[in-house]
Amino acid sequence: MNPLEFKKFHSQVAKQSREKSRLTVCPICGKEQTSFCNSHSIPQFILNNISVNGQLLQFPSIAADDFLIENRVFDAKKGTKNSCTFQFICRECDSKIFSEYEDVSNIRQRPSNKMMAEIELKNTLLMLSKRRYEQPFYEIVEGELENFDRGPLVEIQEDDIRDYTIEFERALRTVYNLQPAKYKLLYWKKYSYKMPIACQTLIPLRETINGFLVNNVHSLDKNYHLEDMNLCIFPLEKETVVMIFYCEKYEKRYRNFRNEFLRLPEKQKLQYISYLVFAYTENFVISPDIDHAILKNENLKTLSQETNGIPNMGIVPMGLWDLEDYHPISWQEIPNIMDSKYAIQ
Ligand SMILES: [Zn+2]
Repeated sequence: MNPLEFKKFHSQVAKQSREKSRLTVCPICGKEQTSFCNSHSIPQFILNNISVNGQLLQFPSIAADDFLIENRVFDAKKGTKNSCTFQFICRECDSKIFSEYEDVSNIRQRPSNKMMAEIELKNTLLMLSKRRYEQPFYEIVEGELENFDRGPLVEIQEDDIRDYTIEFERALRTVYNLQPAKYKLLYWKKYSYKMPIACQTLIPLRETINGFLVNNVHSLDKNYHLEDMNLCIFPLEKETVVMIFYCEKYEKRYRNFRNEFLRLPEKQKLQYISYLVFAYTENFVISPDIDHAILKNENLKTLSQETNGIPNMGIVPMGLWDLEDYHPISWQEIPNIMDSKYAIQ
């Protein structure tokens, strides 16, 4: 398939998958819907702080190979209206349910328990909508392409949906103050400069900084649940708020990581968080004002193409599963995009 054929194939499969995965009721209020809100997974007023002429650099600007960008298979840039969006809940819920955290004066303060619940609620909604879309997507691809086999992907997607649903329901109960859960704020700091990146995401941390197991992402045991932490990088007008938190129930799994992280010197904390972003999520945007040397950094590109430490988005050609010679990019090997030297105005 040449890039143009691939682009056509991709957009057809995407369209069918969107139709197949569309909900009929809003998962928050349960009311029937014919259309859904274009929700921002990172608040739009935060995106506006780092956009240039309303434009933002997307995940493919770092991760995709040049020929895919040149052939417009993936967009390197998008407008703020279409950056980090998902269609999964109704307009009414979208305008109400996140109101405490989608408020700049609240974001400038240490978050309340309810704000953390709102953030986790949105993060789980994004992941649920993503996985529900991916299920028909890969099913169609498997039917169309001879050499593509979903393998364990079917079960992994089902388990993910089960685990995200548990987190979604817990966060929703907390927002509504019904059997609320307590969140542990592992890290919160307001930096006095504007970082060129915005991010809001769940992270199923695999191991601590010193390499001890946190979540076994490869487990196929039906009784094993992944436990996510939440990471936010919120550039404001002249400052940046950075936070990491998780449900207190997860303390046992995250305790070692917390101790190791809090012992890091300040600069290395930001270095490590930068690593988490590129290693774990696609849900970030970058300012077009960024130092362009970063976009060309080979280690950053390789890292953002890894999935669970496996290269090439986790898709390895048959017969090449022997990855013993592959060394995943380590957290010290990438540029620290959150450092003050890369601050933007
Ligand atoms: Zn609703």
